[in-house]
Amino acid sequence: MTGHGPVLILGGTAEARALAAELRDLDVPYISSLAGRVQQPRLPVGEVRIGGFGGPAALRAWIVEHDCRAVIDATHPFAQQISRNAAEATAPLGVPLIAFRRPQWVPAADDRWTVVGDIAAAATAVSGRDRRILLTTGRQDVTAFAGDGFAFYLIRVVDPPTGDLPPHHRIIRSRGPYDLESELTLLRDNDIDTLVTKNSGGEHTRAKLVAARELGVAVVMVARPPSPAGVDLVDTLDAVISRLMDRNAER
Ligand code: NAP
Repeated sequence: MTGHGPVLILGGTAEARALAAELRDLDVPYISSLAGRVQQPRLPVGEVRIGGFGGPAALRAWIVEHDCRAVIDATHPFAQQISRNAAEATAPLGVPLIAFRRPQWVPAADDRWTVVGDIAAAATAVSGRDRRILLTTGRQDVTAFAGDGFAFYLIRVVDPPTGDLPPHHRIIRSRGPYDLESELTLLRDNDIDTLVTKNSGGEHTRAKLVAARELGVAVVMVARPPSPAGVDLVDTLDAVISRLMDRNAER
């Protein structure tokens, strides 16, 4: 099936918003989809739907109902479930799925990174010691650190976490992008010795890594989960657009 309806952009990222703006400029019809996790999401231009679809079968039904010409998975690289759902939903339909993944961050020679496989491993790596930690893994992952009664956690989130929290913590609510000066100030003013982050990639939150390097702060970096097998992966927005245009031309 190759539909004649809108492109479905699975979003929740700056790049998904940029894609929406590009498709609008190119006069390609599209609908952006957000999970509805944050209270006041930054909205892309154009039509937006908000909330889960109800699993892969329901996503497939949505794609059929809207006669989608393609699906762009521009979700966060750690949003594994929706990426799996998109792959499962589109495969039997033959609707093109293009997955955008930002390039990963890579350590420089003088970085002090410990790379771990998942959030639980990050919690194990930092727990039980008298550390001062900046935790930037996102609201949903804070609970993994709740059992650590030793370290102090400065928890930076968009919306407040709802699960259990480590006993010694302070929450700061903010949303990127961040610049180097403000990240240096944050690390210095709070005597941070360890940064825990996911390897999200991208420019919006990269400054914390440069600040950590300059101040000799240790970084515990959660490695990316794998993308679903067999999906067309690209790492630039230009490549997404050119794939989309190629598919359009084939119809
Ligand atoms: P997830 O674990 O991959 O997905 C959980 C469920 O949320 C999905 O099964 C789906 O529900 C729904 N969902 C996720 N993204 C959706 C979207 N764009 N449109 C409609 N439904 C969506 O997702 P997550 O890690 O909780 O992330 C949620 C959203 O936040 C994603 O869109 C992602 O781009 C954004 N985000 C995530 C992170 C992160 O670190 N994980 C960071 C920044 C932004 P149904 O099964 O009911 O369809």
